[in-house]
Amino acid sequence: MTQVINGTEFSAKIRASIKAKVAILKDKHSIIPGLAVVLVGDDAASQIYVRNKAKQTVESGMKSVAHKLSQDISEDDLLSLVHELNSDQSIHGILVQLPLPEHINEELIVNSIAVEKDVDGFHLTNVGLLSTGSTRAVVPCTPLGSMMILKDQLGSLSGKKALVIGRSNIVGKPMAALLLRENCTVTVAHSRTQNLKQECLQADILVAAVGIPEMIKGDWVKPGAVVIDVGINRISKDDGGTKLVGDVEFSSASKVASAITPVPGGAGPMTIACLLENTLQQTCRITGITDL
Ligand code: NAP
Repeated sequence: MTQVINGTEFSAKIRASIKAKVAILKDKHSIIPGLAVVLVGDDAASQIYVRNKAKQTVESGMKSVAHKLSQDISEDDLLSLVHELNSDQSIHGILVQLPLPEHINEELIVNSIAVEKDVDGFHLTNVGLLSTGSTRAVVPCTPLGSMMILKDQLGSLSGKKALVIGRSNIVGKPMAALLLRENCTVTVAHSRTQNLKQECLQADILVAAVGIPEMIKGDWVKPGAVVIDVGINRISKDDGGTKLVGDVEFSSASKVASAITPVPGGAGPMTIACLLENTLQQTCRITGITDL
């Protein structure tokens, strides 16, 4: 029988474990992990993400600092803030919410974050560390969450055939690098891939990160595969309302897969839990704590 993976429950368990470790850090070492989130402009979706991140950061016992900046802030002023946060000893993680306004060079800002405080894992040094298979890399949160689910389901991933659909820098590419680090045989598909259905049918592990509602149908899925649906797409309902669906057609794929993440409530909730995990890990690295 297919297992529907409960990402809400799994992420709550991870956050509870983080909270317990944060309490030990505080009691034993008088250290409180600090996460600074920088938001430029007033994009509604980004504001919701930032609010949720701040709420869960505080709930885990960490310090949360939010910098909400106007849409027309200059690149120099944003750089100055990042430099200030880089040298602030009470801050162990810095996240600049993307996308940034067009007049700001996103790459410049992301790479101005101190590598050890880059809890999003987007700094070129962390990208390089992950591509070389180093366990020192800070891993981007969404692929990290998907990997935690896969390991929880499968234990060892060694030798499995994995297909990642999507090659973005924030999901597809780091996901492929993580699967390779776990000794999977990895294929990365994208918009120019030929015979995607055939590629899907080969995969023991199928990770969809495309952004096209319900593109992957049940008869594309290899029987017994584990399916991680990263896609989050809002579509119209017959009654005039809207709902969220993934990149995988859940109704048909869930009849074929051995385990599958639903949307919502699957891979999505793991992202913030992994942001907190990265912040905790980096706090320990920065402060030299090894006994948590
Ligand atoms: P993205 O940057 O738009 O990348 C989409 C990828 O899908 C691209 O590599 C693109 O190929 C590929 N693609 C497009 N059409 C395709 C097709 N017909 N067949 C095969 N591949 C195709 O998107 P993203 O940022 O990676 O996000 C992907 C999805 O994950 C979105 O639904 C997003 O909302 C969701 N997401 C969720 C979380 C979370 O759960 N917290 C976090 C991030 C993203 P090309 O490279 O050739 O254009």
